[in-house]
Amino acid sequence: MQARYRYRFYPTDQQKQALAKTFGCTRYVWNEALAHCQAVGKYVGYNALSKRLTGLKQSLEWLKEVSSVALQQSLRQLDQAYRRFFEKKGGFPQFKKKQSKQSDAFSVEGKCVYLAKIGNIKPIWSRALPSQPSSVTVIKDCAGRYFVSFVVEVSPSKLPAQSPSIGVDLGVKTFATTSDGAQYHSPNSGPLYRRITQLQKQLARRVKGSKRWERTRLRIAKLHARIADRRLDFLHKLSTKLTCENQVVCLEDLNVSGMLKNRKLSKAISRQGWGMFRSLCEAKGDKHGREVRVINRWEATSQYCSQCGWHWGKLDLATRVVVCDGCGAVHDRDENASRNVEQVGMGRRPTLKRTWRLCKPGLSAAVDEASRIPCLVATQRCRD
Ligand SMILES: [Zn+2]
Repeated sequence: MQARYRYRFYPTDQQKQALAKTFGCTRYVWNEALAHCQAVGKYVGYNALSKRLTGLKQSLEWLKEVSSVALQQSLRQLDQAYRRFFEKKGGFPQFKKKQSKQSDAFSVEGKCVYLAKIGNIKPIWSRALPSQPSSVTVIKDCAGRYFVSFVVEVSPSKLPAQSPSIGVDLGVKTFATTSDGAQYHSPNSGPLYRRITQLQKQLARRVKGSKRWERTRLRIAKLHARIADRRLDFLHKLSTKLTCENQVVCLEDLNVSGMLKNRKLSKAISRQGWGMFRSLCEAKGDKHGREVRVINRWEATSQYCSQCGWHWGKLDLATRVVVCDGCGAVHDRDENASRNVEQVGMGRRPTLKRTWRLCKPGLSAAVDEASRIPCLVATQRCRD
């Protein structure tokens, strides 16, 4: 199976310029091709666009200054975007703006990575690559950090699980409560958010596009990147723990977009990263040979007693502890819900609707992607 390995690197000023140029050219090629298709009124196909690119290069000298493979790749990505749209898997391809672009070409030699027309870069090898990479992507996030991301082949691990199943209840106050009674809190980023609010006021007072404005923008972007890094780290650790230790992980299918309509909760919910947690669990379940089951969102897991099945009905969000009228047991609200999630997922609950489905993970290689941060992304086939 495929996985992504990402490493940070620090380009020289010269390389930064060359990278910026490549990012700019690939963006131009993408936008130009998209505009052409829109003008014609249909998608003309990769081959026709590729021929057009050859023509463009004759008239636009500056397109020749960057790696031609990167430009081809940009068209290939547009081709994929159109395909996804035709297969109803994605929206219509969008024009690329300056803050969100792509580029570049490579080969790995010892500790260096050679990028065509950029030169050698030295990534910080925080861990060894498990195999020869099949493609590389150069990413620049809006906090100004550079990364190379390799797609590598990894063999799935087959460690035996310690426990047969676990249910997970996701919440706002406590990120996750599991059916074995453990609680997991996401990192507290409150102070960082308060600092962002201050800086955003400052940004509003600056002249847009000025040096001071840019400086403040970068500071805000760095804080956002830090929050995202911390959250992603937490989600990675938790999903690894749950999928390694349990054979079956049962999750709830949360109606996140519906919940975001609740104005009082929307901020807190959008900061949680439930969707990311689920995709991480699915990818890791695949990697470790575990099952991830997602139960129906209409399953009322907080309305039943997990011991006797007594139905006490809807609870107010403020109610944290429930005493069961049926058997007298005292339940923590979230823990009770997570037990119900587990029982529904394992099919042990005839009283409930017993609905769950097995999750088919998407491309697990995409899991690592910093999709929330506007990126400069580049994909390139390995030369050998
Ligand atoms: Zn009960």
